[in-house]
Amino acid sequence: MPDLKATTVPVTPFQQNCLLLWDAETARGSVFDPGGDAEKIFAAIRKAGFAVESILLTHGHLDHAGGAEPLQRLLADAGQKVEIVGPDIRDQFLLDGITNQAAKYGIRGLENCTPDRWLAEGDTVQAAGLTFDVLHCPGHTPGHVVFSSPTARVAIVGDVLFRAGVGRTDFPYGDTAALIRSIRTKLFPLGDDVSFMCGHGPSSTIGAERRSNPFLAD
Ligand SMILES: [Zn+2]
Repeated sequence: MPDLKATTVPVTPFQQNCLLLWDAETARGSVFDPGGDAEKIFAAIRKAGFAVESILLTHGHLDHAGGAEPLQRLLADAGQKVEIVGPDIRDQFLLDGITNQAAKYGIRGLENCTPDRWLAEGDTVQAAGLTFDVLHCPGHTPGHVVFSSPTARVAIVGDVLFRAGVGRTDFPYGDTAALIRSIRTKLFPLGDDVSFMCGHGPSSTIGAERRSNPFLAD
């Protein structure tokens, strides 16, 4: 097991949890969902003192992906060439529309994103010395993915599931039934003891949400 360290950097006016995850033993890790404020994220990476191996995206919303290319450039300028990986290609239309969305919300510094590699259900990615399974969990967005490490008993769920909440589905492309199905068929089977980190608000466990999340009551 790696000596796993994690820290979150709240980014954009949406206070999205950009997650830094690294192995303190090797001082290598990944950045999940750098939605904006790339220089703030870059400073947090420097403070944590690890080498970034990849930028991983759960879905295409501006507050999760709008800082990915700016961060990739900052890292490249510092001599670290890293790929942007994910989400599922069904979120391409969102990644292509980030600057338009940012203009609507009046947020500066966000950019459209072209990932170096798309992900799909069944893929695996390496991050912080762990192998993460890629789970396609549509509903909040069509191409949303979740990263799950069965070994570390941890999942990075983006905007699928929150403590006492679930992702919004009131977008034209949102699908409430698909979201609930994603949670029940992909996340619940991970196990009650699995901790998850989400895009907004505090972390929780699969078991706590399975038992008491009001949106998931039987
Ligand atoms: Zn979202």
